[in-house]
Formats: sequence, C-alpha cells, structure tokens
Amino acid sequence: MKKPPTVLLINPWIYDFAAYDLWARPLGLLSIAAVLRENGFIVNLLDCLSAGVTDKENMVRERHGDGHFHKEQVGKPTVLECIPRKYSRYGIQPDVFEEELQKLPRPDAVLVTSMMTYWYPGAFHAIRLVKERYPHVPVMLGGIYATLCHEHAVRYSGADFCISGEGEIAVLKKMSEWTSWEITSVPDPDRPDSYPYPAFDLLSNHDVICLITARGCPCNCTYCASSLLRNPFSQRDPSKVLDEIACWLDRYRVRNIAFYDDALLYRSEERLVPLLRGIQKRSISCNFHTPNGLHARNVTREIADLMFATGFKTIRLGLETADDFLQAKTGGKVTRREFEQAVRDLQRAGYDGKDIGVYLLAGLPGQKIDEVRKSIRYVRDCGARPFLAEYSPIPGTALWEDARRHSTFNLDEPLLHNNSILPCRTDGLSWEDYYQLKSELKDDKR
Ligand code: SF4
Repeated sequence: MKKPPTVLLINPWIYDFAAYDLWARPLGLLSIAAVLRENGFIVNLLDCLSAGVTDKENMVRERHGDGHFHKEQVGKPTVLECIPRKYSRYGIQPDVFEEELQKLPRPDAVLVTSMMTYWYPGAFHAIRLVKERYPHVPVMLGGIYATLCHEHAVRYSGADFCISGEGEIAVLKKMSEWTSWEITSVPDPDRPDSYPYPAFDLLSNHDVICLITARGCPCNCTYCASSLLRNPFSQRDPSKVLDEIACWLDRYRVRNIAFYDDALLYRSEERLVPLLRGIQKRSISCNFHTPNGLHARNVTREIADLMFATGFKTIRLGLETADDFLQAKTGGKVTRREFEQAVRDLQRAGYDGKDIGVYLLAGLPGQKIDEVRKSIRYVRDCGARPFLAEYSPIPGTALWEDARRHSTFNLDEPLLHNNSILPCRTDGLSWEDYYQLKSELKDDKR
C-alpha cells in the first residue's frame, strides 16, 4: 500500500512596525489541515507565531489569552526607510524555525499561508528557508496576500504555486496532483458544516480557540476585502456550532473563544440566539470575544442580554465613522440612531462603557482630522470606548482607486499598504494631530 504523503503547513512571521496577538490563530490553515487529514494526508504545522514552540520564546499573555508576540527589531525594507519607527519581526526566532524544520519529517509538499498584504516578507522568509533545506519539495503559497496581490506573489514569492481565495479545496486538489494521492472527501462550499473542525491539536497552546459561525459577509463596505477573500456568505447550523464549542471545552478545557465572524449577528433570530440559548442550557462557562467587530444595526435587547449572560467579555462594534455622509458613501452598514440604540442595549444588559469598544477608521482617502476627532467625541458621548483603526488600502476593493489617487506612495508595492504609515493620509490629517489623538485615547483605558 502506498505511504500517505506528508504535508508541512507554515504560518509565517509578521514583519511590521507594530503587532499584537488579539487571539490571532491560523484558522484557515488549521481548516486546510483538517481537510487534508480527512483525505489521508499526514500533516505537520510550523507556527512562527506560536505562543509556545520552545522555551526560547517568551510571549507575554494577558488575562484573556491575548498578548504580545515575541519580537526582534530588524532592518527596514528600503521603501520603508523614510518612516521614523522601529520595524520588527514578530514570532519565533529563525534558528528555532530551522531547528523545528529539522525535527519534522521531510515533507512531500509545503503550504505557506499569508495574512496582511504588507506582511509578505514573513511568508517569503519562510519559503526561502524551506527551499534552502528542501530545494526539490514543491511549495505553495496561499492566504490573504496571495489572494489580493496574486501577481506580486507569483512573481516574487519564490513559491512554486500561488492560490487565491478560500484554500481548503484548491489546496487539496493541488496537493493531490503533486503527490499523486487520491482525493476521497471534498467539503461542500455551500454547506459550511460539511468542513471538519479545524485541526487545533496541531497548535501547542490551547488557552484560546477561534471559530466561525459563518463564512463571509453579506455587506459590501468599500474599504473591506471580505467579499474578495471568501465564497458567498453562508451560515452554519447553530447546533453544530454549539457541538464544536462543547468539543473544545471538553478536549482542552479552553477558557477563551474568539469569534472570527464578519457578520456574527446576521439573522441572529435563527443563528446566534439559538446558539447562545444552547450555551446557557448546557451551562457552558467560557469567555467569548468578538475582535472582528459586530454589526451595531443587529444588536437587540435580547442579543445584548444573552451576550452578557453567556460570558462575552470583549465587545467591539464596527462604526468606522460618525459622519453620516462618509458612512453612507462607504457602505452604510449602520446609522447613528442604530448605533446609539445598540450601545444603550449593551449598557442596559450590564456592560460598562469602557467594555463596549467601537472601531473608528482613520486615514481614509481625503479624511480630515476633525472628522476623526468628532467621531471619537461622538462615541464617548454615547458612553462607549473608541478604538482607532488605521485604514489600509486593499487592492480590488471599491475604495482602491480612490486610495491610489490620494496616496503619495506607490501602492503597487504592498509594503506601502501598511496601516501604520497611514498610506492615504493627506494634509488634512497631520502626524502631529494624529499622535495627539492616539495618546488621548490611551487615557480611555484607565
Ligand atoms: S460589515 Fe465588516 S466584514 Fe462586512 S463588508 Fe463591512 S467591514 Fe467588511
């Protein structure tokens, strides 16, 4: 009988001015791992962002399992030399990577994932090290960067093959072709519950599990890449999600679960409400987090009460701007009235204002500092806590051409999509004013 092929999956480093582990786990890669295993492949994982590959890496964890990555300052790429900030590699040390690579069995094929477009140096670094050790083993690159900057990835990554979009089926087919291994089980993209549970056993740390109750997002905000990265929106059966949560609690005694959904509250009467009632019924005790931002429009009194009662500790609402014109122009996902009602419902449910985080975008093409300032004031006046998220231009989105017109940088270079450099900042939003605003926001934590 033929020996099953071995596939090595790699979650690469982050190279950036700043990075924080807000329950970041390579969910897509772990889902691919599970699909490959269902088809008989042997799968190993090398996670450069792991919080515990070896004792050499000391990654500081906070109360809810979020925390700082291990980091090491490195030289800036030439195009970023003009930025007066330190640039670092986040994750394990490269010699640890090489030691781990040596310990793992020789792979028949390798898959490297990628995240933000401007983090591609981490993926390139991993591909280079794998190619040095195994020059004849085929390497595939997938993930967000490989999808959104596909031509750049094909041209410069050093990978033998780059895939776009959701990875499970595309990777399975290519791995089967590369290794002449027969496919026996393919999930159905229209039925998100046909995918096996992600292979969390491949991670060394189980303080945090992340999961999704749906794939994609039904909205189309002009600055967002959700529709470019995902198949059409599809939701899971809440009873299946409940079973998955119970499985992770049983297996790992997990204390923190982060929902990676883009639209957790969509059709909540049929989805989230039954799920949360199920959590109550089974007396599941866990801290839940929503780092991706909830649709304030869909918060109801019932949802707010259920979230509070079932242990949702981190609430983030996506407002992005309190400017009615800009809100409507960028997709109109919420009105101020809806937002105010959502904050009131959450407060009534028992949340303190400082626990109701609200994302606001800064650095949209042509955006002025006064608009950001007014949005911050508005969120505070509503009794919630603003969080600034710097805009990163994303190829293929509706706002992309506008971003190119406003930026003084050449956005053909993905490193210049980095939100830390406010790539679409214009004179109406000076660095001095922006840093002043950021430092004022730090006071909200106290
Ligand atoms: S609602 Fe959120 S995830 Fe959906 S398109 Fe808008 S920003 Fe993206």
